Parts: sequence; structure tokens; C-alpha cells
Amino acid sequence: MLTGRLVATLHDTAIKDELTQLYNRRALEELIPTEVARALRHDQPLSIVLLDIDHFKQVNDTYGHQVGDKVLRTTGHILRIHTRRDDLSFRYGGEEFMVLLPNTDIEKASIVAEKLREEIESSRMLPSKKDQCTASFGITQLRDEEWQSAVERADVALYNAKENGRNQVVIGEYQRLS
Ligand code: GH3
Ligand code: MG
Ligand code: MG
Repeated sequence: MLTGRLVATLHDTAIKDELTQLYNRRALEELIPTEVARALRHDQPLSIVLLDIDHFKQVNDTYGHQVGDKVLRTTGHILRIHTRRDDLSFRYGGEEFMVLLPNTDIEKASIVAEKLREEIESSRMLPSKKDQCTASFGITQLRDEEWQSAVERADVALYNAKENGRNQVVIGEYQRLS
């Protein structure tokens, strides 16, 4: 028979990313509807931060996969220690992360994202002192819409941050149709 503790451990491995110890993408599908419902119920803002490590392929190519993995672990650590207890951090894809910020409007979210950007930039994750690792950010606030379209808006903002030269935070502004 499965003990409660074993069930908890199995559940944990199912929803946590092993490398970074952040929630994985499966957990996101599970947790985001809950967070959205809570925000609506309490009439509170909810913001989404998407970030992607800049030129990560080059990091792997230059320093090897182990250094690449260390960058991912360190980024995960930065997300954990510089966000609040209620915030939820996910490894969204290979070198892409998401942070859900409950009870946080877009102005506050941009302060959080800027702080995370600075922490990543100044964290010296690479062996060479002159090289630094950076990340680009797309952020948005959930409005009167399906959460998927807010994520899409954050993704477009992230794309724009890359296009504008990387290592920056871009806000995805909501535009009401009609
Ligand atoms: P950009 O600045 O436009 O984001 O460029 P990029 O090089 O970061 O983006 P690209 O999508 O070209 O490359 C992502 C790389 O991330 C390629 C892939 O090998 C690497 N990657 C994905 N998952 C892992 C992982 O778990 N560990 C390591 N070391 N590398 C990974
Ligand atoms: Mg990248
Ligand atoms: Mg990427």
C-alpha cells in the first residue's frame, strides 16, 4: 500500500523539475487555473513574468553542458530567493522560466522583474569573469480574458525584449478589442 509520504514524494517528482527544483510545466497546467480563480474571487490582480536566458546555446557551446546546467540551477535559485512565498516559479521550457505573481499589478510586477533581471546579470554564473549571463523578460497582467491569452501576450513581450537587444524587461500591454 502506498503511504501518504510516498504519495507525496511521487506527486512531488511529477510536478517538480529535477534540475532546478522549480515547478515543471505540468504543475503549471495544474496550478494556473487555481491561481486565476483565486485572483478573480478576491478581485485581485495577477501578473505573469516570462523569462528566457540570453544566448544560452552559446553558453553550452562555449563552456559545456555542465556549466549550462549550473546556469539553470542558479537561475532557479535566484527566482526562489527573490520572490515572495505566495509567488510560484516554474521551469517553463529548456531555458525559459515563468513566475506567477498573485496580488500583484503590472507596475509592481515590473519592479520584481527588473530586480530578477539585475540579480541574474550580476550573479557571475560563468567561469570567465568578463562573460556574464543575462535574461530577457516579457511580463503582463491578467485581465478579463482566458489565462492562455495573457501568457501569449507575455510571450510576445519576451520576443520583443529579445529583438530590442536582450537583457531587458518588456511589458505586454493589454488591448481590449472593440
Ligand atoms: P536567445 O538569446 O534568443 O534566447 O538564444 P538562445 O541561444 O538562448 O536560444 P536557443 O533556443 O537557440 O537555445 C536554447 C538552448 O538551450 C539549446 C539547448 O541545447 C539548451 N538547453 C535546453 N535545455 C537544457 C538543459 O537542460 N541543460 C543545458 N545545459 N542546456 C539546455
Ligand atoms: Mg534563450
Ligand atoms: Mg528559449
